Amino acid sequence: CGIVGAIGYDETTEILLKGLERLEYRGYDSAGLYVNDQTGHDYLVKTVGKIAALRAAVDQQVNGQLGIAHTRWATHGQPSEANAHPQFSTSQRFYLVHNGVISNFTELKQQYLPTTDFVSQTDTEVLVQLVAKFVEQEQLSTLAALQKTLQLVNGSYALILVDRQQPDRLYVAKNKSPLLIGLGQQGNLVTSDALATYDLTDQYLELHDQEIAIVTAEQVQLMNLQGVSQVREAITINVTA
Ligand code: GLU
Repeated sequence: CGIVGAIGYDETTEILLKGLERLEYRGYDSAGLYVNDQTGHDYLVKTVGKIAALRAAVDQQVNGQLGIAHTRWATHGQPSEANAHPQFSTSQRFYLVHNGVISNFTELKQQYLPTTDFVSQTDTEVLVQLVAKFVEQEQLSTLAALQKTLQLVNGSYALILVDRQQPDRLYVAKNKSPLLIGLGQQGNLVTSDALATYDLTDQYLELHDQEIAIVTAEQVQLMNLQGVSQVREAITINVTA
């Protein structure tokens, strides 16, 4: 139900937790985050229940310059740690948070992933397993694999994908679920709601439906699902909290 991502900041974990706390009013049943310190350490923490439980489960080590976080309102699969996001590929190379519903996930599993061991009951896991399959078995780049995956998908999504082998970037995409890219001073942000990040920036790029963005600490590259680059002016969003 809520998404927060950050790249380029030192206090990533605190940005993520604070952002999720500000989105609590929307309702959720579980929460989780993934953080990568870009020097080979990464952390996945997921809990059922309140953000306070996630905060308590996060220890001081859990920090880095890249992070993604999620509050889940279950649509497919009960509230549980396994079903909380980030979801990850069997190879544990790819991590993904998602708001929305993938309506053809059963068909996609049957057609493309008949031998994959799914560890969750979510519709979301098919996204990250498909990206992994296209990279690991078909040797596509991560961007090409994400484009191919999203061209196969029906439904709604706001998502952030992380490739552990490229911890300097967030892959972001949207269709019929809200998602904004926040342009910060020290780095960049991704959120489903500017309330989550209002203390870090008031400058945002709006992602349109069926677009992908590659977000690094220094820049944002926008394109459509076919890879044609898109130009967009930043807008100012003032949130009075
Ligand atoms: N459909 C996904 C799930 O059930 C995402 C739900 C949400 O938007 O929080 O895991």
